[in-house]
Amino acid sequence: ATARVAVIGGGFGGTACARALRRLDPKLQVTLIEPNRIFTACPLSNEVIAGLREFSAQQFSYDKVAADGIVVAAQAATKVDAAARTIGLADGSTLSYDRLVLAPGIEMRFDALSGYDEAASAKMPHAWTAGEQTLLLRRQLEAMDDGGVVVIAVPAAPLRCPPAPYERASLIAHYLKARKPRSKILVLDAKDNYSQQKLFEHAWAELYPGMIERIALSQGGRVTAVNPASNEIVTDFGNYTAAVANVIPPQRAGRIAAIAGAADRTGWCPIDPVTFASKLVPNIHVIGDAAIAGGIPKSASAAAAQGRACAAAIVGALAGKPPEPPRLDGACYNTVAPGYAFSLKGIYQPKDDLYAEAEVTTSPVEASREVRQREADEALAWFNAITGDAFG
Ligand code: FAD
Repeated sequence: ATARVAVIGGGFGGTACARALRRLDPKLQVTLIEPNRIFTACPLSNEVIAGLREFSAQQFSYDKVAADGIVVAAQAATKVDAAARTIGLADGSTLSYDRLVLAPGIEMRFDALSGYDEAASAKMPHAWTAGEQTLLLRRQLEAMDDGGVVVIAVPAAPLRCPPAPYERASLIAHYLKARKPRSKILVLDAKDNYSQQKLFEHAWAELYPGMIERIALSQGGRVTAVNPASNEIVTDFGNYTAAVANVIPPQRAGRIAAIAGAADRTGWCPIDPVTFASKLVPNIHVIGDAAIAGGIPKSASAAAAQGRACAAAIVGALAGKPPEPPRLDGACYNTVAPGYAFSLKGIYQPKDDLYAEAEVTTSPVEASREVRQREADEALAWFNAITGDAFG
């Protein structure tokens, strides 16, 4: 009989996996389960927040995915019975699978920061999933008076897209510098060091002198509580009142991963790095942000690379072939002003049961504006390519 593979989550990981499955074995029955009929991409959403890009440029439909012969079920998965190999959907229907790929991305841990629950996020947006949250943060910045303080609260690792909070601070500074020049940005950070820190600091000194202050973990930067009524943000060392509060809480794998039994006590999903097979439940694979993948940053490029490698492992396993350890490519661009970007590009391979960097290149700290401009052009080309692979 034809093998049935179900993929839960139609983001960067899930679409890459579903499409690669069909490409590698056109006879496979592939179902992609995703409640949203329109996907809204996070990469470049910081440009939307800064007023540099249209929100609609972030949105994509699943029409072309369906045209590949993938059954797109526009439903949320609400249950997984790993023993029976069935998935329950929100409309009450049930679907059987031979293999299941979980690619649900993240959910916010609304139990992690005192005062920060889902209702609070309507006042203090995280904007860490793209959509209404992105637009809300944009509107708040537009409505803010000149001279206000924008507070960005950054959680400890692991988080989705580790450099994106600093990209966001940069692009918000770009907007404020032009429109509300007496305003400031305060980054309260639960980390001491972060990805591409030297590049960001160099760019901030050059482009936004005196506008962005960052308080690191060891200086008391860890946010412990928030009060949405007063827009107050509490750390161990003091309280801050924000004109606009962008609170990015700690995260974990999307809820269905825990429902399926694939998440461990950390909230993330342990996997075999060669096959992406869950270490906790049989016949289930986990890819993208939800997986524990060691040194690979949680990014769209990593999710897509994992999706393709997972598809190859599944097709191989169904044909009884031993898996090949994958080499995953990841590229991560950070735009700090229009025409000014830098990047981190890496190749990652399984090592000691996780992924480790095989090769990583970071842009030089000192570079000409031509180099920064070229990377800004590359960032846009990267976005067009990855969304084209996923939805085009
Ligand atoms: P997602 O893309 O989030 O997809 C998960 C999907 O699963 C969603 O569509 C969701 O609706 C669906 N889902 C969840 N639960 C269920 C369920 N129960 N049933 C059915 N479907 C479900 N990455 C980069 O590589 N480059 C960047 O420049 C970059 N910039 C970023 C900027 C910001 C501000 C942010 C927040 C992130 C950025 N990222 C970037 C990170 C990137 O967006 C994520 O790493 C990537 O989306 C992860 O892919 P994924 O497939 O794991 O999850």
